[in-house]
Amino acid sequence: MFKLNAAEEQKRTGVLQSFSPVDGTLVGAVKLTSPEEVPDIVSSAWEGFAGWARYSLAGRARILRRFGDLLLQRSEEVARLITLEMGKPLVESFAAEIEACLDLIHYYTKYGRRFLEPKPVRLHNPFFWRRKNTDRIEPLGVLGIITPWNWPLLIPLGQIIPALLAGNAVVFKPSEHTPLSGKMIAELLYEAGIPPSVFQVVYGFAGVGQALIGARISKIFFTGSTAVGWKVMQQAAESFKRAVLELGGNDPAIVCADADLEYTTSGLLWGGFNNCGQNCNGVERIYVHRSVEQKFVKLLADKLAKLRLGNSLREDVELGPLANEAQLQKTARIVQEAQEQGAELICGGKRSPALGGLYFEPTILRWPSVDREPEGEEVFGPVVFVTPFDTREEALRAANRSQYGLTASVWSRNREEAETLVNGLQAGNVLVNDCVVSFGFPEASWTGWKKSGFGWVHGEKGIDEMVRIKFVTIEPQNRSQKLWWFPYTPSVMTAMRSGVQFLFARNPLQKIKALPGVVRHMTGYLFLNRRRKDKL
Ligand code: NAP
Repeated sequence: MFKLNAAEEQKRTGVLQSFSPVDGTLVGAVKLTSPEEVPDIVSSAWEGFAGWARYSLAGRARILRRFGDLLLQRSEEVARLITLEMGKPLVESFAAEIEACLDLIHYYTKYGRRFLEPKPVRLHNPFFWRRKNTDRIEPLGVLGIITPWNWPLLIPLGQIIPALLAGNAVVFKPSEHTPLSGKMIAELLYEAGIPPSVFQVVYGFAGVGQALIGARISKIFFTGSTAVGWKVMQQAAESFKRAVLELGGNDPAIVCADADLEYTTSGLLWGGFNNCGQNCNGVERIYVHRSVEQKFVKLLADKLAKLRLGNSLREDVELGPLANEAQLQKTARIVQEAQEQGAELICGGKRSPALGGLYFEPTILRWPSVDREPEGEEVFGPVVFVTPFDTREEALRAANRSQYGLTASVWSRNREEAETLVNGLQAGNVLVNDCVVSFGFPEASWTGWKKSGFGWVHGEKGIDEMVRIKFVTIEPQNRSQKLWWFPYTPSVMTAMRSGVQFLFARNPLQKIKALPGVVRHMTGYLFLNRRRKDKL
């Protein structure tokens, strides 16, 4: 008994229930946050921020490391919860969520000092050599983080960990489909020692997200669809807030004639079908050189036929259910429309007759040529399109035709050819002989090109989005006034002329000619300066 369209009833009762896509049973429930409560929650986060920002960096890192220990201790329970709540196979809950999150915590707590300590800035102009300058790095304040359901641990923690480490407070809205995973994050953070006001979760639907963007937050970090990202950007702009947007993708793979087809089909099978294809960076369009296309499709289809679709809590299942009915309906519609537009169905294409519920057969569709392939939308289901190409230029044109530019991959044994394709691809992450995995590298800067978003998460650039820089310059000599201060005189002007020649003339003779003027005027100026009565 799937009870998946209960939003209205839940709003009425004030309880957000989480039903498992695995078998439709109730996993648990949380109290809904009403949009009206959000401003007060944000205000209390500001109170928390005031104390948290005063913790030492080492102290904050210690608490977050303890959070990592707790996550490790309770990894079985957390992985099971993720699988139950959104349906990804248990192996993936461990690999793509738990392992990747532990790695991310390790990375930020180890290198946080390098990213967040004040950085000395040396001025190259010799006239300023005595100054002490630093970029001081300060937290932004209270950050709003809104995330989707498809990676309910790694996506939020990829932002929550650096945000807290940098000294910010966070108000986090998990997806309505994965509230319990969000609650689990909060419980573990509190147990590790994060003060409750510093990290708060708001549970609910789009209205709660809108209330968060409209509240007094310093910046919004939104991960989700491009359509909603557009609304988020508009709403943030109305109150002059900055936003990081990590949005949709429709990611291409280019398979060259010389690719190792055994290896490549295994890689792309995983890239297209892990997480039941519900990845922003999942492979959706595969362009294969025509000379190897038949063999490629046969190998891919043979391997796909061996994938086990079923209860994702079993450790020997590769494909679980889709996360909700809306995802399944969208996937079925895209498959249907593609066939009407001339795509050939190689396998799959419908709800599993054996399993029913939210289980959809993994699907391969084939376009006869790149000219026949329309610009597709993001699928977000277990579907890949294969299209043959004849020339490199044709493959690049087709791959780049999409409005999205999140990730792309190239499969070839020829390094030079792969490099040429990498240079031509329009995407924030490009992988050679691999796919998808780069989101799990905490060091790898993550951003989308085109309508896949803007701003960064992960890596040093990700933490840079969560801080502001205060440039501080200290002049140790504070007795004689500066040459460029008032009053302006002909002598100042002459000193300036010589100085500019000395500093910037590229001809060494010109520099040498200017030097006496610099020395004379500077010495005279400094000498006079001491005695001048006309200082302003
Ligand atoms: P979504 O419908 O855009 O929702 C994302 C989050 O925004 C959810 O928490 C949602 O709450 C909330 N929300 C909905 N409307 C809102 C509004 N008007 N204002 C503020 N918040 C609002 O996306 P989804 O279906 O959950 O996730 C799938 C999408 O995310 C795909 O397009 C995928 O490509 C993208 N994604 C991108 C990345 C990346 O790194 N680029 C990573 C993962 C996923 P409710 O759940 O209550 O609707």
